[in-house]
Amino acid sequence: MSMATATAEFRAAGTDLSERRRSGVSRGPLVDIAARPELTDIEWGAGGAARIGAFVTIAALASNERIAAAYPGLAASALGLATPQVRHLATLGGNLAQRSRCWYFRNPHIDCLKKSGADCPARDGNHLYGVAFDLGPCVAPHPSTMAAALLAYDARVATDQRSALTIGELLGDGSDGSADHALRPGEMIRSIALPPPQQSERALYKRAISRTHAEWPLAEVCARAVVKDGAFQFIRLAAGGIAPRPLRLAASEAALQGKPADAATIAEAAKLATSGAKPLPMTGYKLDLLSGLVKDLVERLAS
Ligand SMILES: Cc1cc2nc3c(=O)[nH]c(=O)nc-3n(C[C@H](O)[C@H](O)[C@H](O)COP(=O)(O)OP(=O)(O)OC[C@H]3O[C@@H](n4cnc5c(N)ncnc54)[C@H](O)[C@@H]3O)c2cc1C
Repeated sequence: MSMATATAEFRAAGTDLSERRRSGVSRGPLVDIAARPELTDIEWGAGGAARIGAFVTIAALASNERIAAAYPGLAASALGLATPQVRHLATLGGNLAQRSRCWYFRNPHIDCLKKSGADCPARDGNHLYGVAFDLGPCVAPHPSTMAAALLAYDARVATDQRSALTIGELLGDGSDGSADHALRPGEMIRSIALPPPQQSERALYKRAISRTHAEWPLAEVCARAVVKDGAFQFIRLAAGGIAPRPLRLAASEAALQGKPADAATIAEAAKLATSGAKPLPMTGYKLDLLSGLVKDLVERLAS
């Protein structure tokens, strides 16, 4: 790999990158990564496990009938993001590696941690759309809807350098305020592997948003459950829009796992969705949104 390639930024469909190029926030060399056939396919393995190429578009994921049947939370998340035009172009790899939507980061005249600045201007500035789980020096929530959905599905990401990263390993834990992901310079996402779905599982996705479409969510949840004999036999809850990385809602999951699928259990799990939250002065409202999303999704999965 040449020096220029190692420091260059990849361009997939360019729906995120073009805006940063136009404003001058992204300035270095670019490498167009051409869609090779093995990266644009969805392959199905034994036991019904999918391997999704990094160049599969968000629209293709949303409309794939087999994905919708096996991984309905993933399909619904894909259908819920951005606009038809963006979904038509945007790739899954680009979605995972997209940069922060923070308005300070996107402003070419303002320094921030993600642009080699010394601090996060949003922390003492306007962070209305910032994190409600303040887990790192940067207070912007991670922008990837698909990362939250893939976290709920225990997905593994293969790059051209590493074979099976968890979503946590791909995105880091939020302690590095300078980055939106933990990919090395010149490392390309190639595919995403999902385990086979649980038997009889159902899944749903819901977002809270400040306008009806074409906006990143204030909070979003992808929920999966198997309800059998009146109890939650399996549960996964992953949330985006609230922290520097998508989060599993471990306290809510523990409150549901093996418990009766009734109103009292669900109310307790919804309350526990905010366990560990550290809202900023302007983001406390996200905690009510998060609890409300969990309550609504789990009630519907239990019904
Ligand atoms: C109005 C609007 C609303 C939106 N709403 C949402 C939303 O709700 N949720 C959401 O998740 N997104 C949302 N988006 C963002 C959109 O989903 C992303 O712009 C898109 O997924 C990026 O994909 P791309 O292929 O265009 O990536 P590009 O713009 O080409 O690349 C984005 C970044 O990823 C890197 N990259 C691309 N492919 C790879 C790869 N294979 N390996 C390593 N690095 C790679 C590039 O170097 C670049 O830094 C919205 C966008 C718009 C315009």
